[in-house]
Amino acid sequence: MNTILTTAIDKLVSHRPLGQEEFVAIIEGNSVELRNELSLPADRERKQYFGNRIYIRGLIEFSNYCKNNCYYCGIRCGNQALCRYRLTAEDILSCCQKGYQSGFRTFVLQSGEDPYFQDEQLAAIVSAIHWRFPDCAITLSIGERSMESYKRLFDAGASRYLLRHETADAAHYVKLHPASMSYKNRMQCLKDLKEIGYQTGCGFMVGSPFQTPEHLAKDLLFIQAFKPHMVGIGPFISHRDTPFSGCANGTLELTLLLISILRLMQPTLLLPATTALATIHPEGRDLGILAGANVVMPNLSPAHVRKDYSLYDNKSCTEAEAAESISSLKERMAQIGFQIVTDRGDTPSVF
Ligand code: SAH
Repeated sequence: MNTILTTAIDKLVSHRPLGQEEFVAIIEGNSVELRNELSLPADRERKQYFGNRIYIRGLIEFSNYCKNNCYYCGIRCGNQALCRYRLTAEDILSCCQKGYQSGFRTFVLQSGEDPYFQDEQLAAIVSAIHWRFPDCAITLSIGERSMESYKRLFDAGASRYLLRHETADAAHYVKLHPASMSYKNRMQCLKDLKEIGYQTGCGFMVGSPFQTPEHLAKDLLFIQAFKPHMVGIGPFISHRDTPFSGCANGTLELTLLLISILRLMQPTLLLPATTALATIHPEGRDLGILAGANVVMPNLSPAHVRKDYSLYDNKSCTEAEAAESISSLKERMAQIGFQIVTDRGDTPSVF
């Protein structure tokens, strides 16, 4: 093993900050042995802060309309093959009601950037959920908005926000997004969210087109400096009706390595085993947990719209993805030594 890699592993395991070259060495050194070497201490760290608890968040994909045209994403506005839908406030509240009865105490409202949902309407939905389920946390994942809009939604009762930065390299960002979108604005949005007081999540796709180990190292450096509360990562999976159809998918193995790295970098991080990971491999979710993830986000959307929230091909929208089968998820997690818990699962106060 070369010396940069040895130093990098040492630093990671003892929670010291790493430099660009060190992150690159770990990413390039990806192997079964390295993954084992990192998943063991990652598991130990996770156990120290979270025991064997896995948090569940109920995902409500409330609109697949989007004004953006990201090259990788199946719900991009340029995809005319997609059947578009929008849930009503009543639909969303009934998803929450169903979820609440199943034990969910966090609702994640996700959508494309749908201009139909202006601040007033969204704030009304958020406050209705907040009023009806005062013991639940509300997470938003609805893309880039103004500081003013983020504030208004925060005041209405949303306390968490997921906005993947997608890539921390400005030139790579341009290769994934049309000219109408800007890297600078995305990063500014993340700063605004944190400043307002949201528990903020960023994240990126693993193996997105044109991505290099240097780009991934930049993602990790950004996360190391930004210190988000949550990080969502999953493999890129190509979608047939996008400019990236036919591009190679990201791999299970690199995603698992990155999950362990993130757990070691920031032991108290909320780190989901994502749907994309469950889609790429039948045991992806379990393997993600074993590598260091501590959150799963089952789908609470009405069954008939799930297939239309098609970010990528073959998106897993059955079985454990559905809240109805939460008991099978509980069983599955128990089999690998973990326990699904239903408390809100805020970031531990040690953070
Ligand atoms: N409009 C919201 C939600 C976007 S969808 C926003 O802008 O934040 C949630 C995430 O799905 C995206 O941030 C992206 O990282 C991921 N995603 C989109 N297309 C994907 C694909 N083809 N493969 C894997 N993940 C994808």
